[in-house]
Amino acid sequence: MTHTPCPLYKKCSGCQLQNLPYEEQLHLKQARLIRLLGRFGHIEEIIPMEDPTHYRNKVQSAFCMKSGRLTAGIYQSATRRIVEVPASMQDGCMLEDPAATRIVQTICALAPSFKLKPYDLVTGRGFLRHVLVRHGFQSGQVMVVLVTAPGDFPSCRSFVNELCRRHPEITTVVWNVNPTSTPLFLGSESKTLFGEGIITDTLCGLTFRISPRSFYQVNPVQTEILYNTARRFARLTGGERLIDAYCGTGTIGLTMASRPGVVGAKEVIGVELNREAVQDARDNARRNGVETAQFYAADAGEFMKELAARGKSADVVVTDPPRAGCSREFLQSLLTLAPKRVVYVSCNPETLARDLGTLTRGGYRVRKIQPVDLFPFTEHCEVVVLMSQT
Ligand code: SAH
Repeated sequence: MTHTPCPLYKKCSGCQLQNLPYEEQLHLKQARLIRLLGRFGHIEEIIPMEDPTHYRNKVQSAFCMKSGRLTAGIYQSATRRIVEVPASMQDGCMLEDPAATRIVQTICALAPSFKLKPYDLVTGRGFLRHVLVRHGFQSGQVMVVLVTAPGDFPSCRSFVNELCRRHPEITTVVWNVNPTSTPLFLGSESKTLFGEGIITDTLCGLTFRISPRSFYQVNPVQTEILYNTARRFARLTGGERLIDAYCGTGTIGLTMASRPGVVGAKEVIGVELNREAVQDARDNARRNGVETAQFYAADAGEFMKELAARGKSADVVVTDPPRAGCSREFLQSLLTLAPKRVVYVSCNPETLARDLGTLTRGGYRVRKIQPVDLFPFTEHCEVVVLMSQT
């Protein structure tokens, strides 16, 4: 598959593999995985994305002043600069959701007449910091989170009315205050300006609630493939106790739980650090009629340590940690709990290799390694690994 190269490729650096045809990107990822994980066993061929463009359901655009004009673009953490996506690029960034691109363009066009000024990181003056747009691709619902510096929001109501009039697809608008110096950060203070303050979306036949700050995979098409792979690896027969570690809003655990008409785990225990995500997970269980799932707000390592100390057992542990991988404490307690199967979902093959080393030294054997391309055009990739006791 060929694509038109992005004019911002060099400036932006968000798409590290932009210069390669998609087929070659896949070969490169496969070769890197073989290098990093080959010693643990055969690596299945990476599952590609059918149409690898505009896959992101979550877009964050930072505001700035360029040539006396309010504009929005991609925040580049390495240089602390904002790379403007010019309005002439009508489809916007090739990874981002075009619906979000249009909303961001409207905000830029409306802001001056509502006296909204972009926040300046250097001087600390101004108000509008960034906008986060989340789009449920299956539900069609759209959330707009306007992130500002502390202070009054001038003509807030009329601004939101005009934005929603121009974009009837918007189902909720939230105002969030980021008082910190960290760009693209959402503060703890939020106010819903329109709608319910959350959206829902469907994954693997279940409905999930997404709030402004909780984690939700950015590529929903490939996420279904990822979750179905993890589910297949877990080989559930209806009687298992399953731990979903680093569970976010409970998406993996809930798609693996038994529910009317579906054979899955008998009992699901989810653990997650972010309290808001845990609330979403509990709500998601209710929404989908899963009565046998419990979610805890805790550090996954400490939680596992406590389970192990109390002599609890689990048949299957699914773990889906952030890029840093699982903590040592988590892995040690996992070895003590000694589940029959471990399904490791990883977004970073380097920490995955480190953690597989620990688990294989502790007696587990790697049975299957399946990469899934969730992030075309970038160097990132997800990998699902099945381990069982020798
Ligand atoms: N399984 C979920 C989320 C994966 S992202 C999904 O597929 O959507 C990783 C999650 O780990 C995030 O929700 C993050 O908040 C959480 N997390 C990060 N550090 C953690 C820790 N020490 N203990 C528990 N959860 C943690």
